Amino acid sequence: MSKQTHGFNKSLSEIAEAVNSSLTASEKLRLLVKATARALGVRGCSIMLLDAQRKRLVHAASHGLSERYLRKGFLESEKSLSEVLDGKTVAIHDVATDPRIQFHELAQLEHISSILSVALKIKGEVVGTLRAYSRTSREFTLREEMFLTTAANLAGIVLESGRFAEIEKPLLESEARVVPHHASLASQLKPTTFAHPSEEEFAHLLDFYQIEWLYEPRSFELRWDDGKGSEMFTPDFYLPVLDLYVEMTTLKPGLTRVKNRRVRRMRELYPEVNIKLLARRDYDRLIAKYGHGPLAGTKTRGVGRVFFSAAQIQRRVRQLAKEISRDYEGRHPVLVGVLRGVFCFMADLMRYLTVPADVDFMAISYYGAESGRAVHVTKDVDLSLEGRHVLLVEDIVDTGMTLSFVIGHLREHKPASLTVCTLLDKKVRRLAEAPLTYVGFEVPDEFLVGYGLDYQEEYRNLPFVALMSEEKPGTEPGT
Ligand code: 5GP
Ligand code: MG
Repeated sequence: MSKQTHGFNKSLSEIAEAVNSSLTASEKLRLLVKATARALGVRGCSIMLLDAQRKRLVHAASHGLSERYLRKGFLESEKSLSEVLDGKTVAIHDVATDPRIQFHELAQLEHISSILSVALKIKGEVVGTLRAYSRTSREFTLREEMFLTTAANLAGIVLESGRFAEIEKPLLESEARVVPHHASLASQLKPTTFAHPSEEEFAHLLDFYQIEWLYEPRSFELRWDDGKGSEMFTPDFYLPVLDLYVEMTTLKPGLTRVKNRRVRRMRELYPEVNIKLLARRDYDRLIAKYGHGPLAGTKTRGVGRVFFSAAQIQRRVRQLAKEISRDYEGRHPVLVGVLRGVFCFMADLMRYLTVPADVDFMAISYYGAESGRAVHVTKDVDLSLEGRHVLLVEDIVDTGMTLSFVIGHLREHKPASLTVCTLLDKKVRRLAEAPLTYVGFEVPDEFLVGYGLDYQEEYRNLPFVALMSEEKPGTEPGT
């Protein structure tokens, strides 16, 4: 028996054992991707599932990929999605040059050279994809492709039985809070049909604000063994970020009474579960939790799609701070921010650092917009940077002109070292070379506001990063 055959057999038997075990769906999938990566001798493996709207691929389980890669955001390129939706097997030989890859640089940082991707199906319907990522550039053989397809079929079984178990399983008190992510995702995979138009409207609203939602992900038993059979209650939505179930109320007073009774009963039986009855007029109050909408007092006119939600930003900033803390261990860096757009990012980043760090700011101003942009310093740093390890912190790097000017300026202060961290990297617009060591997110050529970024001094207080809507302003820089 060849070494590869032996490896395939061993991994398959491990996967089969996991599938048939009492582990949760997500634990099963984690074992599955791990065993698959080992069998194929690849760096990593991941399962991505289509969201309810079938517009994006969301990471569900992975092995061997860094946090940075996983946080690159969801994939929504038309091309890669249409291939997934068609259930095609896709082999990408060279990640660096293939136009189907959305995040070239990240893939390269991750040392990914080739990718093999097969469809993940439940009962014949495509629900996502299983991918293998190779460090070396390689052609996958037909046998390897078949192995990956087999693993994808087993993953489909896990997802399908996960969703079934979720509904059948009687609730343990301690489990009440926990919504198995993948099982719920699986139950979301068919285009959602809403029981009521107001639910659909609410879902659109949540989508707009990029608040992750699950429609009717689980049922709670409210009454059992009373001879009349059991009574189940399935709240309309679950919002993972708020750990909150939402039941929408309608205008019919009779129905509202029934719902009120059920929610009261839920609270008695499952005190750990947060549930809220939501009337139409309560929407705004919920959205205000995100600093948005009329009740939050933030200007929102002109704000388009939310690009990175508050929760996504915080997760990514925490991760960057972890990398920086690791890299700067024992070196006591000085963080230098360029005012004013960076102040939100700087404040959060600093608070997540676990190494001591000084902080300072400088300010610049632009003039002569016609004759090419020229920059000058209006406020220099106050601390002495000589011999210090300086980390320049930026909100967004666009053409790179500002950055190269600032780097040149900071070098005159003779720091021992100088590296750059930016939250957003608008790489496609780069003109001047920009040596970026830490990048939060790569962004397309769009004008962004929020989380410190302004348009004519407004929108800085949004807790998320959003696109400007149609009446898009010129992309003259803020500060
Ligand atoms: P660069 O010199 O790299 O072209 O421009 C960097 C500066 O332009 C940033 O510090 C920021 O002030 C501004 N900028 C670039 N892109 C955007 C954007 O999408 N939104 C906002 N608000 N400012 C931007
Ligand atoms: Mg700036």
